[in-house]
Amino acid sequence: MIPFNRPPYTGQEDQYVQAAMRSAKMSGDGAFTERSHHWFREQLKCDSALLTPSGTQALEMAAILLDLEPGDEVIMPSYTFVSTANAFALRGAQIVFVDIRPDTMNIDENLIEAAITAKTRAIVVVHYAGVSCEMDPILALAERHGLKVIEDAAQGMMSTYKGRRLGAIGHLGAYSFHETKNYTSGGEGGLLIVNDPRYAQRAEIIREKGTNRSLFFRGMVDKYSWVDIGSSYLPSELQAAYLWGQLTMADEINRDRLATWNAYHAAFADLETSGLVVRPHVPEHCKHNGHMYQLKAKNLAERTALLKHLKDADILAVFHYVPLHSATAGRKYSRFHGEDRYTTAESERLIRLPFWYSMSPEIRQKVIDTVHSFYS
Ligand SMILES: *Cc1c(COP(=O)(O)O)cnc(C)c1O
Repeated sequence: MIPFNRPPYTGQEDQYVQAAMRSAKMSGDGAFTERSHHWFREQLKCDSALLTPSGTQALEMAAILLDLEPGDEVIMPSYTFVSTANAFALRGAQIVFVDIRPDTMNIDENLIEAAITAKTRAIVVVHYAGVSCEMDPILALAERHGLKVIEDAAQGMMSTYKGRRLGAIGHLGAYSFHETKNYTSGGEGGLLIVNDPRYAQRAEIIREKGTNRSLFFRGMVDKYSWVDIGSSYLPSELQAAYLWGQLTMADEINRDRLATWNAYHAAFADLETSGLVVRPHVPEHCKHNGHMYQLKAKNLAERTALLKHLKDADILAVFHYVPLHSATAGRKYSRFHGEDRYTTAESERLIRLPFWYSMSPEIRQKVIDTVHSFYS
């Protein structure tokens, strides 16, 4: 069976994980975490970057930093992973969904303003497939209404919008290092990106169980104590060491993924010209990271048939998000503002093809041929 995903592995990870195993410190914020934090601050040009045990927890930290009160509203797309909404629902916020654009599957920047009320506090954008949302109009809108912008850039490491790195554009950003993402810290992991310096110190406190332990270690206070709410958001050094192996190969991983993406894209051009499928769209000013390769079939029935055709050929392709507003918890914690013109209809057409770092050309070709045989 050709799997849908394989966790990224470069061969560099073993030496660092072993070093972490043998060091005197395996708990959080050791040498590999420090190195990673430094790497991200340099690469993203952000104020602070803090590793977390998962992308979900980075989003939870962002939600705590916003100091939301019950009933406050947070605007986001419904076509996203459950954690995007859950992190804010956990703080008592009401989730307000708006429709997506059919071309990028990202939140439609033109529909956000109409969903803003006196209770709106933040806009959470999701850069689907590592392709950026329209950040300039969204930031301008947020500025006009005094709202914060949180980037769920879980899929967006190495991608840019007008030259700026995703996750480092809004007030706060989150990456995921889950094994299905472009870079992993050993299966699970994440990163909180702080771009607004006003959040930097409190982010460290929330991450350290609500204590000012980081300040103590830097010699800025003479003892540490409980100063705020918080939780345990430090990954183990084993996670950080695995990630460090991948960061040393960051450009190579990105290059390889883009090569696979471009090969898929070229191979399906004819099907798109014939009007049989729709290929992913990347706006001119966005550089993506080859996070996934998705096609849209005509409708749900055709997608179901295509997935079965691939499965019969031992290829595991998968669909993606079931819109959150139609889920059980979605009905309780959210509302959909405006018309669901594209969210449900477009999500039902989409399939994701097998994709991983260092995928062989033979496997890729088998996937390509099998999709073509379905349409011929
Ligand atoms: C993967 C993902 C997350 C969650 O990340 P975890 O590391 O699995 O907790 C959140 N949002 C989006 C859009 C994702 O793709």
